[in-house]
Amino acid sequence: MQGKILPAALLCIFVKTTYISSPSSILASPVEYLHGISTFKGDLLRKELEIFTFKDLLEHYPFRHIDKTRVDKIAGLSPSNEYAQVAGKITHFEILGEGRAKRLTACLQDDSGEIELVWFQGVNWIQKAIAVGHQYLVFGRLSFFMGRPQIAHPEMESFTPQKNDGKNYLEPVYTSTEKLKTKGLNGRAIGKLTYALLQILTEKDLPENLPAYIIKQYKFISRFQAYRQIHFPASEKHYQHAVRRLKFEELFFAQIRLGLIKTTRHRYSKGLIFEQVGDLFNTFFNSYLPFELTNAQKKVLKEIRKDAGSGKQMNRLLQGDVGSGKTIVALMMMLIAAGNGFQSVLMAPTEILAQQHFNSISGLLKDMPVCVKLLTGSSKNKYRSEVLKLCEGGSLNILIGTHAVIEDKVVFKNLGFAVIDEQHKFGVAQRARLWKKNTTPPHVLVMTATPIPRTLALTAYGDLDYSVIDELPPGRQPINTVHRYENKRPQVMDFVKEEIAKGRQAYIVYPLIEESSKLDYENLMKGFEEVKSFFPEPEYWISMVHGKQPVEQKETNMQRFVKADTQIMVSTTVIEVGVNVPNASVMVIESAEKFGLSQLHQLRGRVGRGAEKSFCILLTGSKISNDARERLKIMVATNDGFKIAEKDLEIRGPGDIEGTKQSGLLNFKLANIVHDKVILEAARNAAEAILGTDPDLNDDENLPVKNYLQQQKGKTPWSKIS
Ligand code: ADP
Ligand code: MG
Repeated sequence: MQGKILPAALLCIFVKTTYISSPSSILASPVEYLHGISTFKGDLLRKELEIFTFKDLLEHYPFRHIDKTRVDKIAGLSPSNEYAQVAGKITHFEILGEGRAKRLTACLQDDSGEIELVWFQGVNWIQKAIAVGHQYLVFGRLSFFMGRPQIAHPEMESFTPQKNDGKNYLEPVYTSTEKLKTKGLNGRAIGKLTYALLQILTEKDLPENLPAYIIKQYKFISRFQAYRQIHFPASEKHYQHAVRRLKFEELFFAQIRLGLIKTTRHRYSKGLIFEQVGDLFNTFFNSYLPFELTNAQKKVLKEIRKDAGSGKQMNRLLQGDVGSGKTIVALMMMLIAAGNGFQSVLMAPTEILAQQHFNSISGLLKDMPVCVKLLTGSSKNKYRSEVLKLCEGGSLNILIGTHAVIEDKVVFKNLGFAVIDEQHKFGVAQRARLWKKNTTPPHVLVMTATPIPRTLALTAYGDLDYSVIDELPPGRQPINTVHRYENKRPQVMDFVKEEIAKGRQAYIVYPLIEESSKLDYENLMKGFEEVKSFFPEPEYWISMVHGKQPVEQKETNMQRFVKADTQIMVSTTVIEVGVNVPNASVMVIESAEKFGLSQLHQLRGRVGRGAEKSFCILLTGSKISNDARERLKIMVATNDGFKIAEKDLEIRGPGDIEGTKQSGLLNFKLANIVHDKVILEAARNAAEAILGTDPDLNDDENLPVKNYLQQQKGKTPWSKIS
């Protein structure tokens, strides 16, 4: 039916009479206002596909199109074809196997050969729905079994041969769900609804939302056309044009929204001014800084200082690979804050990490008149109230802690600088709570645990300014990483022994997939026993740390390892972030196939912190998936966190990057920031150019953008991040 335009007289039947048309709101109409959608079906569409309105239906894009004129000959299929579309007659059915292995097979024949169709589910239903002797058009993922072509769970429909008469036969295919299918809303029925909807929409209902000069510059088709062509394209080329335009639109508005948050903040939120560097900074720099800063650290420090002197509130993202020395940069900025009479807070994601920051920072400052305190969930009451008093009174300069520091009870006299370490463990809401700790919000520095590829950083954290430490302190040797199978465990343990004999220490890490998983803990305990059998007391001492231990026990065990009272640390991923024991030179990761790339990199970053050559051994069973093998290969091949982050993004896709999931910032319907880099780049440049010259979108030519934003208000998760 595609391509045909229905006579106007017929159109009215598509919209129920209850609907009163008004151009600005038609897209906001509930789906059941569309003819053919009962209240019941409307409910189902909402529950199953989150289609609430006409607009949602319009944006339920087809995942592919069938070209009915392009049918493969069965004899010509080969394993190099990923998908196949064939047409022919069903010659017979057969039920094979029993119980769970029960399956239905059918043989489909064309004039060149035969292909097997297989169903493992819905056998009875399929058998009733499909008739022997009838012609079908069949589409699906092709596989070969004993040299014969096969399609499992194919898409099927009756076939009537169509001549290739130059007309378009691209038919959209939509996702549906099992539930919807049984109620008559399969992908094809959804297509019919969408078609009906498109017939009643006019140009006025889908007004242009991009400035005319952008449309001209990129040769975009109109928005109205784009929606039609993405569903019912006149040709493959038309479809590509539609996709390109709609992807651009998606990314462009994402960037505009983030940009608006940023520019509004820059213009309207007054920032505290740190006028001088101050004596504290100078004394520290001249007398106590234990090493020379790298150029990258100096550069970032300058950027932050400049922000803090500008009179605007700073919100900056600091990226740097594991071990690149982000903490010292934050500390020196805290000294500048103190030198200007402001307090600072450093928030870490775990107790262990907070404790460790506290130990190293108070150690560095021990001969300086700076008051540093630690506050975590397990701080004792008496100590806690003391800290709170110091904090409120203003004599506390630096507060270090976990989430505990953002609780309402924590009142600062004049908080000037807030640092959030290892951002991905914190939500955006927590960031916002820090701003409220002073009437003029403090400057905020967000430090990432693992690098994020630049593209993603600019998209997900587009409301923040961006600094990067792209250089490791001198003298660091790359960590030697190897992958070993389970059967080499004795050799691996012997190697650990050799390192310990040289005075080094080792980590042995077990996966913790779920915080509550019993199995994971059993594995850890079993592992611990096994490690003990390789490393018996009193020659060897072992610490064990995991999330279920009481905090004090965790802390004691950790400290024993830090002080080198124990040579081996057996743990779950609680040591993942931040922990710093420069004498540790071996990291053994058990069941390494179960970890994601950035987690592996983060764990590996626990070694290689001193001057000694360090090693990371990835232990796995013999059977691992291709994806896991790929991850391990990347780990062995490179030490560069930014490269690993790029790969991680490619493999997992942006939806899985931590910290972005709950914000919904990267949930694009069409665009994929990994594969659509070119469009993303163009959209970002366009958005930046517009906001650079017309930050309030008041120019006539930018009005389409402003109008669209106003119309969309409250419909996106963006409000959460301001
Ligand atoms: P991360 O960026 O992973 O948080 P840290 O701030 O924990 O890294 O720094 C890692 C280690 O490197 C620490 O032991 C720190 O003292 C040390 N370090 C930081 N900067 C330098 C430098 N410029 N020269 C030498 N060592 C440094
Ligand atoms: Mg750190």
